[in-house]
Amino acid sequence: MKHTDIQTLASRVEGPVLLPEDEGYDEERTGANLAVRHEPEVIVGAARAEDVQEAVRFAAERGLAVAVQCTGHGHAAAARGGVLVTTGRMTGVEVDPDRRTVSVGAGVRFEQVIPATAPHGLAPLNGSAPHVGVVSYVLGGGVGLLVRTYGYASDRVRGLELVTADGELRRVTADGEPDLYWAVVGGRDNFGIVTRLEMDLVPVSRVYGGGFFYDARAAPGVLNAYVRWAEDMPRQMNSSVALIPVPDDPEVPEPMRGRHVYHVRIAYTGSAEEGERLVAPLREAGPVLVEALRDMPYAESASIHDEPPVPVPFQRETALLREVDDDVLRTLLEHAGPRAPVPCVVELRHLGGAAAEPSEHPNSVAHRDAPYLLSVVTLLFGITAEDTRPLYEKIFEALAPVSSGARLTFLGFGANAGEDRVRAAYAPADLERLTRLKTVHDPQNLFRLNHNIPPATTGAASAS
Ligand SMILES: Cc1cc2nc3c(=O)[nH]c(=O)nc-3n(C[C@H](O)[C@H](O)[C@H](O)COP(=O)(O)OP(=O)(O)OC[C@H]3O[C@@H](n4cnc5c(N)ncnc54)[C@H](O)[C@@H]3O)c2cc1C
Repeated sequence: MKHTDIQTLASRVEGPVLLPEDEGYDEERTGANLAVRHEPEVIVGAARAEDVQEAVRFAAERGLAVAVQCTGHGHAAAARGGVLVTTGRMTGVEVDPDRRTVSVGAGVRFEQVIPATAPHGLAPLNGSAPHVGVVSYVLGGGVGLLVRTYGYASDRVRGLELVTADGELRRVTADGEPDLYWAVVGGRDNFGIVTRLEMDLVPVSRVYGGGFFYDARAAPGVLNAYVRWAEDMPRQMNSSVALIPVPDDPEVPEPMRGRHVYHVRIAYTGSAEEGERLVAPLREAGPVLVEALRDMPYAESASIHDEPPVPVPFQRETALLREVDDDVLRTLLEHAGPRAPVPCVVELRHLGGAAAEPSEHPNSVAHRDAPYLLSVVTLLFGITAEDTRPLYEKIFEALAPVSSGARLTFLGFGANAGEDRVRAAYAPADLERLTRLKTVHDPQNLFRLNHNIPPATTGAASAS
């Protein structure tokens, strides 16, 4: 890459252009998952849509792959060479309380949206951790805290601005460009880089939420009890259960320290009184270590899962499950429970309700009929992603008979983001249509450093 080319690029963009030897390169490329670090030839720290256009044109002219990073929580693959576009400077949040919409720049995280919508009694359909990026979560079919009550945020995308592989900035809506809209909402950056997204909000200002913690050894029946309980719940009841190996660390308060604990999480949109009544049977699941439930402003709902916004190295894997019976739970505990060879956080999220309904504006988010989403996460302290492979393979092979697919936002990286895993995120006919549209909009597979849908013409491309 010629120095003069870089100088020309830098003169055209407002944000920084960074090479590996530049101060700031390391900080700019480092995302929240410390196990996957991009090593691009050049980084464009985009400050506006035109910067993204310049970066994409620069890459396309040289046949370089383009990666995009907001927070770096959800990489599929690390760039080795190529161009990395970072979006953290594109932070505009515009709320329209009359239309009940919010428009966000590509770098916006939910923790910036929630305080802006709350004063209007409105909320976005965010996930459990508000420090993830809005665009990637929404376009990946993100599973929200209130998914059973209100369905997917993906289904509420009004429109977006997209820089396609030809460097053009397009306004994409369900009516204006129905094919591209259908593909991007679900197919994410396979079709371009989104610079702005507008979506509908929901009229939520409070929830009855929190959870129960149990010592897994003293309360071995929690998973079974939770699943039996969840089956009878109305769609206003959103919940999940996680089995968490809590570190034996003096900074962790008793009584959780050093134990495997079950954490049942609740976000109920009905009244606090009714919520209290509905969760009461969960006290019978076993001795409760800690109970923390309250009527809370929605702006405090991050406390329900309480996931710390600290960068850590992690791998993850996921499956949508068409049924969760005693055999499935036994399999999960056998492989990923307290005796697992590598520590795992195992989580089951209850779907159904509005999550099972089709979108008013068709998109490519699939597998809506699955009643549960399983995710397994391992913190890679003293181990590598490779060390998790044998265990993950065992778990997911054992669950294959009841798996109906995967959700893009929960897929991991490397081997856990391979062709078969991406295929699992889509309905077969949808994948064929996505491949046809990819062939039209990105025939060179410029956008391939992701959960990739290769175009029909090139087959699977290399990672850089
Ligand atoms: C603690 C924690 C809690 C989570 N909770 C949930 C949850 O409740 N529900 C859920 O569904 N998911 C959840 N996730 C997963 C999360 O939604 C995904 O990892 C998501 O992809 C993260 O997006 P990001 O922008 O923060 O990460 P990034 O790594 O920056 O982005 C991930 C990928 O999205 C694509 N992308 C990013 N920006 C753009 C853009 N502007 N245009 C097009 N494509 C883009 C790129 O392929 C990029 O590699 C959670 C993750 C963590 C770490």
